[in-house]
Amino acid sequence: MTARTLVRNGIVLPLEGRKVVYDPGSVLIEGNEIVAVGSTEAIDADPRSAGAVIVDATSHAVIPGLHNGHLHSGLLRGTAESMSLWDWLEAYVDPAHKALTPEIAEAASMLAYTEGVRFGTTSVMDMWRFMEGSARAADAIGIRATLVPYVADLPGFDYFETLDSNLALLKSHRVASDGRVRTWVGLEHLLYCSPAAFRRAAEMALEYDTGIHTHSSESIWEVQESLKQFGRRPIEEFYNRGILSDHTVVAHCVWLDDREIELLARTGTSAVHCPCSNMKLASGPARIGDMRAAGIAVGIGSDGEKENNNLDLLEEMKFASLLQKVSSLDPTVGDPWDILDLATLSGARALGLDAITGSLEPGKRADIVTVDLRQPHLTPLLHGADFNVPAHLVFSASGHDVDHVWVDGRLLVEGGTVLSVDVGAVMHTAQGAAEELFERRRAVLEAKAKGS
Ligand SMILES: [Zn+2]
Repeated sequence: MTARTLVRNGIVLPLEGRKVVYDPGSVLIEGNEIVAVGSTEAIDADPRSAGAVIVDATSHAVIPGLHNGHLHSGLLRGTAESMSLWDWLEAYVDPAHKALTPEIAEAASMLAYTEGVRFGTTSVMDMWRFMEGSARAADAIGIRATLVPYVADLPGFDYFETLDSNLALLKSHRVASDGRVRTWVGLEHLLYCSPAAFRRAAEMALEYDTGIHTHSSESIWEVQESLKQFGRRPIEEFYNRGILSDHTVVAHCVWLDDREIELLARTGTSAVHCPCSNMKLASGPARIGDMRAAGIAVGIGSDGEKENNNLDLLEEMKFASLLQKVSSLDPTVGDPWDILDLATLSGARALGLDAITGSLEPGKRADIVTVDLRQPHLTPLLHGADFNVPAHLVFSASGHDVDHVWVDGRLLVEGGTVLSVDVGAVMHTAQGAAEELFERRRAVLEAKAKGS
């Protein structure tokens, strides 16, 4: 008989597109699937609940797992602060890329996915390097992961991944770990990749029936550079290079004009909003409301540890709401229900995973998070007409309040403790890998100084 777990008597927000709440409510898991969602009374009466392992979720929010639609594993946290975007890339991020080894890259993914799952992230899209190690990390931790190698091919960027290494990862990991791990085609950036690389990326994605992920329109400078070099704005140039489609996800999308929003919508291309990164690097506010109104699937992402600096999507939701409010001078936008949608169902839709996850519905995979609401910063907890849990989740809670996390029906976090890996060992390995990376990075910078 398949194992059953009853997440019982919580405050269940299925987030399947309507503002439905079961308070009190329960979710019944069988194997890797959700088989019932409803009021505590109704699920208790379901004969399938008999004999299930019960997890008491009283005074806990029960929500779908969160989707981090744009992440870079990494170990530069807290070391590259207060620089302009392009100085930061050239002086800091790129030398660290040159110094990276497969072992250091794997330690970074272990750390990033461990942090993510601890904070309620059940699915990541990670643009990183040497991603066979990332696949191993995702497999060990149990998180859902879409692996996107950082591909660049223009002169001066030969230290990144190549389309050939991306192809090798597609061959070995197109789908792995019972479907939880997938590989897409990655393109770092319009200004790092040739038109030929874009064309080949589109062909590879088609041949392997997989997606494409890239960055765009993050800074005004980048839009001006695109106009200067190609005579088109970045999203128009993407269209021209043939990569816009319902299999493509573009991170940032800050500086889009109306025509570019229309192009994303018409081609079915998705966007991922990274509010913390956009604020920290002073990129600007993305037009989330306009993109959603146009029908674009918008997800939410933390971006990397170096531009956030944590991978806490509950905190990211607060920034997503506040950034919309302050940039539009309109306090009515960034409603908690809308923001929860970005991190759950809309995020899953952006990643092409909404058929199997993103909401609490029978038949979907059991990717479930509980958030302990019995905390001073989450008091008062009000029900019925004064219901305040969506606002608590977006504005008051943080990843530290996450209590239980399941992915594919497997319990990965219990009472705030990660079960699938030894967190102390993950941190220890990451610490050693970071120290080695900084040593190697110093050597890269010294060699560059001598050469110039
Ligand atoms: Zn990024």
